[in-house]
Amino acid sequence: MSFKAKRHKGTGGNQMPIEALRCKECGTEYDLDARYVCEQCFGPLEVAYDFTRLDAAETRRRIQAGSAGIWRYADFLPFDGGPPATRGSLEPGLTPLVRADRLAERLGVREVWVKNDAANPTHSFKDRVVAVALAKARELGFETVACASTGNLANSVAAHAAALGLESYVFVPADLEEQKLLATGVYGTRLVGVNGSYDDVNRLCTQLCETRPWAFVNVNLRPYYAEGSKTLAYEIAEQLGWQLPDRVVCPIASGSLFTKIGRGFGEWLELGLLDGELPAFNGAQAAGCSPVAEAFAEGRNVCRPQRPDTIAKSLAIGDPADGPYAVELAQKTGGSVESVTDDEIRAGIRLLAETTGIFTETAGGVTTAVLAKLAGAGAIDSDERVVVVITGEGLKTLDAVREGHSVEEIEPTLASFEAIEGVPEITTV
Ligand SMILES: *Cc1c(COP(=O)(O)O)cnc(C)c1O
Ligand SMILES: [Zn+2]
Repeated sequence: MSFKAKRHKGTGGNQMPIEALRCKECGTEYDLDARYVCEQCFGPLEVAYDFTRLDAAETRRRIQAGSAGIWRYADFLPFDGGPPATRGSLEPGLTPLVRADRLAERLGVREVWVKNDAANPTHSFKDRVVAVALAKARELGFETVACASTGNLANSVAAHAAALGLESYVFVPADLEEQKLLATGVYGTRLVGVNGSYDDVNRLCTQLCETRPWAFVNVNLRPYYAEGSKTLAYEIAEQLGWQLPDRVVCPIASGSLFTKIGRGFGEWLELGLLDGELPAFNGAQAAGCSPVAEAFAEGRNVCRPQRPDTIAKSLAIGDPADGPYAVELAQKTGGSVESVTDDEIRAGIRLLAETTGIFTETAGGVTTAVLAKLAGAGAIDSDERVVVVITGEGLKTLDAVREGHSVEEIEPTLASFEAIEGVPEITTV
């Protein structure tokens, strides 16, 4: 089932650069409607733009005068009439980029910045991709939206659908963390728990796409959805004073976020909004689901599917759609794709919390642990500026920190407090 986009031709000063959907493999072009796979070669489709229509200085002024969220980057998003009319709903973006000197010191690295994308409306970076996908779904005339989710996408689709007054169906693996199920159901969505892995959920949604007139944000709307991740790159560059970092450490599930951050920087380099070259890209995966890290280590870009077994459920995609492109980005930029164990993930969550005050979910533990691993291996040069992308909130995966500290229970008396082991002795009052 296919819904045709109305093509608005630019009127007057409207010079939006969006052109077509284009196959990443063979270059065949398609109209900007709800489709995601090339009919010629089965390659994935991506939104194509012509940035020669933009003037760098004018574009920069438009960005700076824009909203305090992702719609300030509308020139680089797949809408041909300017920012979509979803103002006042849940606009994500402009999350803090904070310099983390105590983390850097702990790791023996000069300069580390944390991009805290837990600071979004539903506490993960997924709000960026969902806001773009749902605005596109509305433009294309869909009334029902849906997704296959590892957890955070479920929260986000349910919330944004509620904000926009759209019907929603959210499909997740039935064994998801309880916090993520509760934080999805509350929005009044139809929450469907599938007995299977994420890859099973995704396969089911691909079949449903053929029989239901719904916008599956990460299936038939995937080319638009993926564009939302570019805004993370734009923000990092803008927040660093229109400069590129030297290295980006970023988690990989399907590989979409990782590759689109590369694409975002690339577009701004092409347009002349930034100088220099792409940063080194280090991808982060959990050892219990590391098809991209494994492919990188073995020097191939085809990823062999795995059956996930890790506490990092939000990254548990065993058959990553953008895996080959993620490997290529890591290779091309002198980066890598690394994996870390569940114990290292738990330690990563604590390290970030203790040195920055930022409490991240398991995916952020993966990213922080990979940063620590790179630092430990001496892979980070002494003059580098490193950005770590923290994609989600710790309150959603509380089980990961249940061990490791305890509550000291006492009677409400001074003596009881003074009796606790390790409390410093009273010196003066
Ligand atoms: C979805 C997700 C990612 C990355 O997803 P991709 O499929 O690689 O784009 C990273 N972190 C969190 C917390 C996520 O929910
Ligand atoms: Zn093709």
